Amino acid sequence: MNQFPYEYSASFAEKMDANDPLAHFRGKFHFPKVNGNEALYFCGNSLGLQPIAAEVYLKRELTHWADKAVDGHFHGEEAWYGIRKKSKPTLAQILGANEGEVVAMNNLSVNLHLLMVSFYRPTSSRYKILVEAGAFPSDQYMLETQLKFHGLNPSDALVEIHPRKGEYTLRTEDIEAEIQKQGDALAMVNMSGIQYYTGQFFDIQRITQAAHEVGAVAGFDLAHAAGNVPMKLHDWKVDFATWCSYKYLNSGPGNVSGIFVHETYANRPDLPRFAGWWGHSEAERFKMEKGFVPMEGADGWQLANSNVLALAAHQASLDLFQEAGMTALREKSIRLTGYLEYLIQQISGNSGVLEIITPKNPDERGCQLSLLIHKGGKAVFDEWYSQGVVGDWRNPNVIRLAPTPLYTRYSDVYRFATILEKSLRKFIDSPTTIQG
Ligand SMILES: *Cc1c(COP(=O)(O)O)cnc(C)c1O
Repeated sequence: MNQFPYEYSASFAEKMDANDPLAHFRGKFHFPKVNGNEALYFCGNSLGLQPIAAEVYLKRELTHWADKAVDGHFHGEEAWYGIRKKSKPTLAQILGANEGEVVAMNNLSVNLHLLMVSFYRPTSSRYKILVEAGAFPSDQYMLETQLKFHGLNPSDALVEIHPRKGEYTLRTEDIEAEIQKQGDALAMVNMSGIQYYTGQFFDIQRITQAAHEVGAVAGFDLAHAAGNVPMKLHDWKVDFATWCSYKYLNSGPGNVSGIFVHETYANRPDLPRFAGWWGHSEAERFKMEKGFVPMEGADGWQLANSNVLALAAHQASLDLFQEAGMTALREKSIRLTGYLEYLIQQISGNSGVLEIITPKNPDERGCQLSLLIHKGGKAVFDEWYSQGVVGDWRNPNVIRLAPTPLYTRYSDVYRFATILEKSLRKFIDSPTTIQG
């Protein structure tokens, strides 16, 4: 339970905003409007807001293209040839990696498949993959078709781990026990870092260690973790990971993904991979000769020309993360999400209307709270939307709200609470009354 002395009052929220060292970042984003008014945006877990500077970053590349055309690859300070290097310092900080271990490329689902080529090497005895039940559909389809590609039957080779009866999230000790149980049969653990539906932040370090202890590799889909929680992928010895940039990383719809490949594999040209010219030794690339020689580190998994316009928008956001820092963001995030949790508990109380299924322990979640709504269904969510609340609805009855610390105020969370209170009045006999 949150210890902070929160209050359900406008003055408390205003005081918190006034003391927020990150408050000025809000002004660096475009906010959408709902019914003509600025939205209360709690959907950064699905699509992050547009940094106002994104336009400037994009225009710079358009101008470079207009002025230099093909020479733009090699000429000038903004030469595109080495553009992949620009995002590395900030990505490395966000993921807890060395710069050589990360590179921005492709889209998430594409990268998952590419990484499987290198890291999923089933044998007749070691071929199973462990994943949390209810994984994001793209991950499920990826795993299903990878297994079939290797001639395996997903109903045998895929081990899906479920929460205990009556629980919504997984216990780390149960994940570890399942890994130990699979033992020599387990080839890989492939889980999300933060579960998209429940908001649970898995113990990546312990899961990775358990996988390694039985001789399996550990890879993570960090779509909901990147830019949301600080991580230490290098120290945790994670084998590989991938993420997307359009959720918490605010880089625009469908924008570039990134991969992490642990340093242990930096010089492993023997690892099988599907290659393209952009992963080939940089010095030799334009010799256009036969024989693939991978670049060192994550760069050796690149296939194609960097997508310059995509990377420009990505960089606009990464520069804000660099300025804010993950430590400060996390600190605010824990407080802000704690405030949302507190207000929901104050308002819904023991009425049974709303049930938070995201873990209560801040170490086991990012900024997202997932709520089961037991009365009123989608009509309640739609009523919130008409008041300007942008969250997201997942069938059959889950509402996800993500007060992202980069651009959400305490007073936005407070305002949501007043809307929530009004909408629940008809279900609750004696609701708390709003003070201040
Ligand atoms: C958002 C999300 C994706 C989306 O994949 P794309 O390839 O970017 O479309 C995949 N997996 C998870 C867990 C996600 O949350």
